[in-house]
Amino acid sequence: MRGLVVGRFQPFHKGHLNVILDISKRVDELIIVVGSAEKSHTLENPFTAGERIEMIYETLKKYDLNYLIIPIKDIEYNSIWVSYLESLLPKFNIIYSGNPLVRVLFRERGYKVEKPIMFNRNEYSGKEIRRRMLNDEDWESLVPGEVVKIIKRVNGVERLKELAKDDY
Ligand code: ATP
Ligand code: MG
Repeated sequence: MRGLVVGRFQPFHKGHLNVILDISKRVDELIIVVGSAEKSHTLENPFTAGERIEMIYETLKKYDLNYLIIPIKDIEYNSIWVSYLESLLPKFNIIYSGNPLVRVLFRERGYKVEKPIMFNRNEYSGKEIRRRMLNDEDWESLVPGEVVKIIKRVNGVERLKELAKDDY
């Protein structure tokens, strides 16, 4: 049984980690799709696909999991998005997503879709983490240690703050 999770992981946080550890107990192998792969250097999507893959890969190293990380760019064509994924990914049987659009699209194509349990969603949220980065609040405790290191190495917080400035 192969499972699928899709996220933008901007950045990869402890909620994502918890959900991946939880799902991994229920499938033989997990495909982790890094979505919106072409997007980076924006307030909503500050990190490149490469940086996000590294965040996930470095964090998962210490766990004994069977997984693949695959970056996929957006096509902005919802009605054919599932076939697009099918053409790029190994065969999968079950999708784990809390996103209503993702759930509808897969269900309409006959897939089994499950809703993962949310972990501390008020804090473990990409949007909240990016907000804290911009406001010099504690974001480090919301992401795995490996992710803190990568964000610091690429000057991620400075990047985000620069992107938030007005043109002059
Ligand atoms: P953003 O605020 O940027 O949308 P996000 O935290 O929602 O970030 P995504 O990359 O959009 O992160 O998440 C992909 C998927 O990860 C979601 O659809 C959801 O199923 C799961 N997820 C996100 N946060 C949590 C959490 N705290 N607990 C469990 N699952 C989560
Ligand atoms: Mg989201």
